[in-house]
Amino acid sequence: KVMADQIAAGEVVARPASCVKELIENSLDARATRIEVALVEGGIGSVTVIDDGEGMEPDDAVLAFQRHATSKVHEPRDLARIRTLGFRGEALAAIASVARVRLITRARGAESGILVRVEGGEIHPPEPVGAAFGTTMEVRDLFFNTPARLKYLRSAQTEQARSVEVVQRESLAHPEVAFVCRTERQVLFQTPGRGDAREVWAALYGVGEAKMLLEARADHGDYVVRGFIGRPTQARSSRQHGYLFVNGRPVRNVAVQQAIERAYGERLMVGRYPVYALYLEMDPVLVDPNVHPQKWEVRLSEERDVCELVESAVRAALDGTML
Ligand code: ADP
Ligand code: MG
Repeated sequence: KVMADQIAAGEVVARPASCVKELIENSLDARATRIEVALVEGGIGSVTVIDDGEGMEPDDAVLAFQRHATSKVHEPRDLARIRTLGFRGEALAAIASVARVRLITRARGAESGILVRVEGGEIHPPEPVGAAFGTTMEVRDLFFNTPARLKYLRSAQTEQARSVEVVQRESLAHPEVAFVCRTERQVLFQTPGRGDAREVWAALYGVGEAKMLLEARADHGDYVVRGFIGRPTQARSSRQHGYLFVNGRPVRNVAVQQAIERAYGERLMVGRYPVYALYLEMDPVLVDPNVHPQKWEVRLSEERDVCELVESAVRAALDGTML
């Protein structure tokens, strides 16, 4: 069983940043309003995610580490209406099979918290422990028992940068949640959690830059796009600060990305890419989130329509006229 989890882990968790993503998604699914991410040695030493969400009852805390023991899909038709972020019940089992995990959790109303330790897939019996409401998940020594995989990790600096990018994306995806991102040395950023994406941008990239952003908005029957885009002068030398979200999920979609760049056209210098945070809302049946094991690439069933809408929203924002 541990073996199967380790194989699954190859798809779900490739590096500290993938742990960060899975743990944040679990906190969001548990309706956290505050999520703190702490990285030690770029996450190679440990990744800790602390939330103030619903917490788990003792039995569920142990079950959480069993494969396909998700509390979120009960029958096949549930898959068609996934609203939560996690749904395969694989992440924690996979992570715990290749790391040392400490879970501290206290459900709302529970008299005390409990601690569950899992090392290389071996689950220890829960122990009572003092704790605030919510959940703390600490993942230490990732790949300690799979040296072949450990070898593929890059420097602490590189791994940290990847994890921080994940927290930045999730912060922008969920402006209503207050995120704290820190290392063993310092707080890297902190978002206010007031529901305003521009405030999140300010927390990540500075107030001055956030103020210059242009609003973009358009809708067309089945789709709505809203958010903001940078002025051509704010463009960067990489695509890293172009953020796209579909139904609250950070995604990558090359066609939409190209549509956005097309809208900028001649306004961009060669080798420069626009900054933006665009939020697409559409009927979930038009989105297939299950293309990629890490749920990052999405397939849109009416991609061309979506691209046209996004392109016109960006063009209108650049032209200073709202649609
Ligand atoms: P999935 O998210 O696909 O259901 P996971 O392996 O990520 O699977 O998590 C397993 C289960 O553990 C979740 O379904 C949830 O019930 C519970 N869980 C995990 N993290 C948290 C958390 N931060 N707060 C509350 N419950 C959690
Ligand atoms: Mg999950």
